Amino acid sequence: MAEHYKPFKYKPWEMSLEQRFQEVFPPYSQREAMQEANRCLYCFDAPCIVACPTHIDIPTFIKKIATDNVRGSARTILESNLLGATCSRVCPVEELCEGACVLAHDHKPITIGRLQRYSMDYASSHKIKFFEPGKANGYKIAIVGSGPAGLSCAGELAKLGFDITVFEKKKWGGGLDTYGIVVFREPVEVSLSEVKMIEDMGVKFKFNHAIGEQVTFQQLVDEYDAVFVSVGLGNVPSMEIPGEDLDGVLDGLDFIEETKTEALSTIKYGQRVCIIGAGNTGIDCATIARRLGSQRVMIVYRRSEAEMPAYPFEYEFAMREGVNFMFLTNPVEVIGKDGKVVALRCQRMDLGEPDASQRRKPVAVPDSEFDIPCDMVITAIGQKKLSNVVDALVKLGVHTDRGYILVEDGTNRTAHPKIFAGGDCIRNKGEASTVMAVEDGKIAARGIAKKFAIQLEEVKQGAKG
Ligand SMILES: Cc1cc2nc3c(=O)[nH]c(=O)nc-3n(C[C@H](O)[C@H](O)[C@H](O)COP(=O)(O)OP(=O)(O)OC[C@H]3O[C@@H](n4cnc5c(N)ncnc54)[C@H](O)[C@@H]3O)c2cc1C
Ligand code: SF4
Repeated sequence: MAEHYKPFKYKPWEMSLEQRFQEVFPPYSQREAMQEANRCLYCFDAPCIVACPTHIDIPTFIKKIATDNVRGSARTILESNLLGATCSRVCPVEELCEGACVLAHDHKPITIGRLQRYSMDYASSHKIKFFEPGKANGYKIAIVGSGPAGLSCAGELAKLGFDITVFEKKKWGGGLDTYGIVVFREPVEVSLSEVKMIEDMGVKFKFNHAIGEQVTFQQLVDEYDAVFVSVGLGNVPSMEIPGEDLDGVLDGLDFIEETKTEALSTIKYGQRVCIIGAGNTGIDCATIARRLGSQRVMIVYRRSEAEMPAYPFEYEFAMREGVNFMFLTNPVEVIGKDGKVVALRCQRMDLGEPDASQRRKPVAVPDSEFDIPCDMVITAIGQKKLSNVVDALVKLGVHTDRGYILVEDGTNRTAHPKIFAGGDCIRNKGEASTVMAVEDGKIAARGIAKKFAIQLEEVKQGAKG
């Protein structure tokens, strides 16, 4: 994490449980925000805009903060990215806009993420409504899944006058922003207020509606003029090792979800926790366990530090939180006593030739097994594809690749003329992130508008404020 990006001083022994789960970074005061905004060079052809997947006009929104036009600043952000509040908190800014900032090399990059949060917090605390639904155009669109991809697509289409219904299998909207992003990076209320903003734009939500169960994809295709599929991915897959059914083995996404939906004091955690996997989910589970009170948290990863999927700033954050890492270590069995976890049996690994992911393949070292004593094991080895959704779509003629939906560049249309898709469920290459899902939603909205020859320029007429 960049040196200027200082979180609250973290002294757990001085903090209540609730305080430990407050946002890691404090909000900027007006003075701090204006001071930081005044450092921006307002570059011509600004590289920060190019680096932002949603192409927010960053120098313009920063300039508006510098002139104390925070309302205008928030509008500039939302015109490009309706999930500006979430993105200001969860985007890997070091890899995107801040990494590209011209001041990154010689000085400190502009803290674009925190300035964006300043404007978004202002808009939210002043309850400013920026967008009205566009004039009804008579077309009905179904959106499946209310994560960032679904919300972004819904909002952009609502501005154009489409009649939108979002089907969501959970009881709340927001997808992983609500249920998966660790609460001290994004409180649930931030994500839920974005769902409310989209609802206020005239979008209808049907919660507790899993498509494929109550309603089929065929019914949606028959009833609506187009369908946007943004179902994300599923839970953590099984590790296929003995002992996974023991009391004390948890799915990492369920563990995170509990901290976002349940009272913190009711959440069970181990004193000695092993986390399997060193990506986003693994780091989040590890830091949550530490903040809940676990004495020792160990991330076990079968490859080396260099291949670890977590971003460098996440790795650094986890280490500062007292999380330990054991690299080149592969779990082979969860050991139990009286039905409860007592250890994780692992074997040492070495790195061999690169595999299909171009990372060097881990190879087991013979006779190298050893046990890590622990009372909880949390699995965080990625997410399953939603095979029920994919199978239903394939039957309708949608093409897929290894469980991911294939779409056309520029429109996000699938092989079926009425079905579009975006977000994690199409991300068969590279990393997945919230901001990329938001952009997918925009691309699909443009694709759908093009299908019905609706001019995107009309978006601007729907904006006010
Ligand atoms: C633990 C974790 C931490 C992360 N941290 C970050 C981070 O810090 N920064 C970042 O940029 N990205 C992060 N990501 C990635 C980011 O959350 C995802 O890339 C993003 O949420 C994808 O958006 P989406 O709309 O495609 O899917 P999701 O957010 O997964 O939303 C999909 C929605 O579809 C619903 N759904 C599924 N099936 C059905 C069905 N049959 N019918 C109706 N509804 C259905 C689901 O309930 C869900 O609400 C993280 C991911 C995880 C797992
Ligand atoms: S690159 Fe940095 S200095 Fe230039 S406009 Fe963007 S934020 Fe401002």
